Amino acid sequence: MKSFKAESKRLMELMVNSIYTNKEIFLREIISNASDALDKLHFLSLTDEKIRDSMKPLAIRIYIDKSSRTLTVEDNGVGMSEKELEENLGTIAKSGSFKFKEELGEKDKSDIIGQFGVGFYSAFMVSDSVSVTTKKYDSENAFVWESKGVAGYTVKPAEKDTCGTKIVMHIKPDCDDFNYSEFLETYNIKRLIKKYSDYIRYPIKMDIEKSVNTAPDGEEPKYTAVTETETVNSMVPIWQRNKKEVDDKACAQYYKEKFFDYEDPLAVIRIDAEGTVCYKAMMFIPSRLPQGYYTKAYEKGLQLYSAGVLITEKCEQLLPDYFGFVKGIADSADLSLNISREMLQHDRQLSLMEKNIEKKIKSELIKMRDNDRDKYSAFWKLFGAQIKVGICSDFGIHKDFLQDLLVFYSSSQKALVTPEEYISRMKDGQKYIYYACGSNTEQIDSLPQTELCKEKDYEILYLTQEFDEFVVQTISKVNDIEFRSVTADNSELQTEEEKDKTKKLEEENKDLLDFVTSSLKDKIVKAVISDKLKTHPVCISADGQITLEAEKYFSMLPDTENKPKAQKILELNADSNAFEALKREFKSGNKEKAAELAEILYQNAMLIAGFPIEDPVGYCDMVCKLM
Ligand code: ADP
Repeated sequence: MKSFKAESKRLMELMVNSIYTNKEIFLREIISNASDALDKLHFLSLTDEKIRDSMKPLAIRIYIDKSSRTLTVEDNGVGMSEKELEENLGTIAKSGSFKFKEELGEKDKSDIIGQFGVGFYSAFMVSDSVSVTTKKYDSENAFVWESKGVAGYTVKPAEKDTCGTKIVMHIKPDCDDFNYSEFLETYNIKRLIKKYSDYIRYPIKMDIEKSVNTAPDGEEPKYTAVTETETVNSMVPIWQRNKKEVDDKACAQYYKEKFFDYEDPLAVIRIDAEGTVCYKAMMFIPSRLPQGYYTKAYEKGLQLYSAGVLITEKCEQLLPDYFGFVKGIADSADLSLNISREMLQHDRQLSLMEKNIEKKIKSELIKMRDNDRDKYSAFWKLFGAQIKVGICSDFGIHKDFLQDLLVFYSSSQKALVTPEEYISRMKDGQKYIYYACGSNTEQIDSLPQTELCKEKDYEILYLTQEFDEFVVQTISKVNDIEFRSVTADNSELQTEEEKDKTKKLEEENKDLLDFVTSSLKDKIVKAVISDKLKTHPVCISADGQITLEAEKYFSMLPDTENKPKAQKILELNADSNAFEALKREFKSGNKEKAAELAEILYQNAMLIAGFPIEDPVGYCDMVCKLM
C-alpha cells in the first residue's frame, strides 16, 4: 500500500469527513474528468489516423448496481498509464484541485467544495472505497488503482478490453445524517446529470428500466419491464444554447465551476455573431481580481473551441491587454480544426473575432455604467487601472476607443461620474473640466488649491491614482472641453476686479516676495500672492510641463538619476495671519526669522500637497524654536 502525498492526504481527509450538504457534486467532478479524457482522445485523433480508425463513438456510461452498492462511471477516452495513474491520483493534480488548495486559506472550506472543481477525490464524500481501472489508448496494459480513503492506495495490473477509464464507487452505508443510498437511485442520478452535466458534449448513457406494453394491438395491455439505454444529457454546450434557455444565473454557475471562482461574475457577456465570421462567445467579468492579475505571470485569453471541440485553453489573440481580465469561451465552426498554434496567430477569422469581441465587451461595460453605477464602480475599483493603462499605452492609439469608459470621483456627486456627466453640470461661464490630484478623496477635499473652484461651486474631479494625471493629459479633452488642474494658473477663475487686487498686492509686497523666493531658492521658482486661496495661508502649484503629481510619480520609480521635478510656485494668502507675521518680521528687519517662517510655510505647503518632509527633525526643531 502506498501513501498519498501530504497535500492530497489533507484534501482527502476533508472529503472523507465532509459534512457538506452538497455531496452530490462528486458526480459532476467524475463526469467532467471523463469528458476531459474524451476530449483528449478526440483531439489526438484529429492528427492521428490510427487512433481515428480504431476509435469507438466517444461516450460516458453510468451503471448502478444496488446489490453491490456500486455506482460506476466509465469512459472510452485516453485512459492513463501506470505512471500517470500514480501521478494523477496519488498527488493533487495541477489544475482544479491545486487551485482549490491555493484558495483554501481564505474561505470557508465547505463553501469552496460546493463551488470549485475539487476533482477526483470528491468521490470519497460518498464512497468508502473507489477503484479506477484504466487502459491508455496506445497501450496493451491496463491497471487498477484502489483506495479505501486516507490510509493509502494500491496500483496493480488489471484486465480491460478497451481503452479508457472505469471508476467504481462503493457507496457509503446510510447513516442518521445522510441517506447515501440516494446515489444508487436511477432517477436521482439522472436528475444530477441534468442539473450539473447537461451540457457535456458527449452522450452520458444510462440503462433505464421502463415498463412497456408488450401486448399485440387491440388486446388487453400487458406491461413488461424492459431496460433501455438512454442518453440523459442534452449535449449542447452551454454557450451554444439559446439565451432564452440559459439565464445569467446558469451561466454564472457554469463560470464558477469552469473558472474556479467562488463568486458570481459582475457580468455575463454573450455573443451570437453571424456574418463575415460566425461564432458564439460566452464571457465573464470577474467580481474579484483573477489570481495573479496585475503580475507578469498572468495569462489572458479565451478558451477557443471549434464547433464544440477545444482547440486551445488560452487564446490570447482574442482579448486585447486592456480587457485581459475577461474570462470565457469563444466557439467558431469557421476555424479549421487541425489548425496549429502558430497558424492561429495569423488567422484572419481570429482577428475579426477579436475586433468584434472587444466592441461587445466595451458596449456591455457602457451598459453597466449607465444602468448600474454601483456595479460599475465595483468593476472600476478592480480593473479601472487596467483601462487607464490601456489609454496611455502604445502611444495612446487606443484612447479614443477606451476613453468612454473613464469615470472619476466627483466633488459634488460624491460618486464616480463620467466626464460627459461633468460637462452637463458645468456652470455658466465655466471653461474647463477641473481636476485635483491626491492620494485619496479626503486628502484632496482638504487641499487649499480646491478652494477657489469650490467657492465658485464648480465640480472637481478627484484623481487618486498615481498615473491619473497622465490619463487626462493623454486624452486632453472631452467634447472639446479641456481638462485643467486646480493647481494650474487658473486666471480664468478670477474677475477683473480680483485680478487687479492680486496684482496690486504683488506690487506692494514685491520686496517680501523676492526675499522669500531667494531664501527658498533651491526649492521654488518663485513666491507669489495667491489668487486661489480663500482660507488656507499657503499652497504649492507647479509651472511648466512637470506637474506635482508627475514629480511624485517619478520619485517612486526605482533609482534613476535626475528624476524630473516640478517647477514649484509658493502661493501665499495675503489675507492670512501667517502672511501678516511673515511681513512683520521682514519689515522690522528680522531677516533670519522671516526666512524661518518662509521655510515653515513652504514645508506646510509641501505636506498639504502630499510630499514628505525632507528633514523632519530640522523642521520640528524650527517650529519648536518659534514657540
Ligand atoms: P483535475 O481534473 O482538476 O485535474 P482530478 O483530481 O479530478 O483533478 O484529476 C486528476 C487527474 O487525473 C486529471 O487531471 C486527469 O489527468 C486524470 N484523470 C482523472 N479522471 C480521468 C479519466 N476518467 N480519464 C483519464 N484521466 C483521468
